[in-house]
Amino acid sequence: MGSNGCRLVRLEWNLLLGKLATAMIGKLDPAVARILRPFRQEIDPRGRVRVYLGRSHPWAYKSGFCWRSRIVARIALGRRLRPDQQVHHVRLDRSDDRIGRLKVMTRKRHARLHAELRRGKR
Ligand SMILES: [Zn+2]
Repeated sequence: MGSNGCRLVRLEWNLLLGKLATAMIGKLDPAVARILRPFRQEIDPRGRVRVYLGRSHPWAYKSGFCWRSRIVARIALGRRLRPDQQVHHVRLDRSDDRIGRLKVMTRKRHARLHAELRRGKR
């Protein structure tokens, strides 16, 4: 098999892995899942899902990864998040990145909310 064949197999394999990952890793709106299908997704030890976009991708950190929740929020808002903005998982399920389950807020407000949650005020 020539190198083109190898590349094609690898592409198909990545697409398949992307599909499997989307099916297995957390919750995602179908339209967003279609957008993210070509990319590898991983779940970190804290239950957050990150997407490997590649080191040259403008949305990615230097590692080539971006948190999936930030990608979803960015798609939903139609603009990039400000550096001070974070994404809160409304049901506290870090792998549930459906648009309706995410809330964008400032870092300060997010920290306050989680402090209140820990104290059982909400
Ligand atoms: Zn939160």
